[in-house]
Amino acid sequence: MNPLDLARPEIRALQAYSSARMEARGCGVLLNANESPWPPFGHDNGWNRYPDPQPAALLDRLAELYGVEPSRVLAGRGSDEGIDLLVRAFCAARRDAILVSPPTFGMYATSARVQGAGVIESPLRDDFTVDADALLAKVTPAVKLVFVCAPNNPTGASVPRATILRMAEALRERALLVVDEAYVEFVEPDAGCGSVAGCAGTPANLVVLRTLSKAWALAGARVGALLADARVVALLRKLMPPYPLPAPCVEAALRAVSAAGECMMRERVALTVRERARVGTAMAQLACVREVLPSQANFLTVRFHDPEAVIGALSRAGIVVRDVRRYPSLGDALRITLGTPAENDRVLRTLDACRCAAAAGRGAMRVEQPA
Ligand SMILES: *Cc1c(COP(=O)(O)O)cnc(C)c1O
Repeated sequence: MNPLDLARPEIRALQAYSSARMEARGCGVLLNANESPWPPFGHDNGWNRYPDPQPAALLDRLAELYGVEPSRVLAGRGSDEGIDLLVRAFCAARRDAILVSPPTFGMYATSARVQGAGVIESPLRDDFTVDADALLAKVTPAVKLVFVCAPNNPTGASVPRATILRMAEALRERALLVVDEAYVEFVEPDAGCGSVAGCAGTPANLVVLRTLSKAWALAGARVGALLADARVVALLRKLMPPYPLPAPCVEAALRAVSAAGECMMRERVALTVRERARVGTAMAQLACVREVLPSQANFLTVRFHDPEAVIGALSRAGIVVRDVRRYPSLGDALRITLGTPAENDRVLRTLDACRCAAAAGRGAMRVEQPA
């Protein structure tokens, strides 16, 4: 199957803008791009030059990390850019649609609406797992992209690899399956929910989004990768601005994904995973907590008896969390990112104190029975 058969015909036919850096790479006397001949700040960092649109060193390293050929890697400004490019290339306004499983990451629907594409929904099950068959049953000829977030933001559950691969197979010829693996580094290794990055492009409709924003601690640099069949990568590059990756951000990314950077990432992820278990267990004991959703990510989504009181208490303690009550089935929930152990302790202390305040004020709190 040629995945480009699913793309907008006008995008397939588009002649990409050809930038100065693409037409003439490398060295010599560079007088072709109207750049300053002098580097800024007096030292030769090369920032007076337009950057390489897709630096080979970065693509090679990301390809190695994710287990794919470099031709299957598109580096961009976070996975948000990957989402946006996919929607623009595959969904025609007022004709095509994306399919999502709410409650899930909001950028899929936002990008689709900006593009004028439809958004079809197939909700998660009551336990917030993906209902693959229900999702597949909702695929119409208009649906060009099916988004699965694994682990899912804002609920934290992941999706078994076998389910993802079965869905990709079932969608062959019909739609691209886009698996957003923003949090996959935090997944418990034995959960059967590891990354499918190495399968990106095989089958040809399987696309995987990865990011350096979470486990790699580089949200400020805005670097992510889209992994896909090389034809999809080439198509999306036509839509990208000519110089998508700022040189200082590429430098930061290369440092982050170096061997030393990878070691540090693994240590920090291991600490976060231990904190997830510790904090999750402690929270589940607290009187103000209704339920801690099982999480494979670097956050805990927690349902509270009185979320308004909890938000007030946290905010008085100077702790900012994400209010996710607007999402379907999460009307009483807050999403709390795991911080340092000290920060997590502060959250626990604040929530513990919350019990008394809320119980005194409302007289309707659940009372924990001592074991
Ligand atoms: C944080 C997050 C991303 C990352 O977006 P970037 O643009 O790479 O920073 C992607 N998907 C989900 C579900 C996220 O939560």
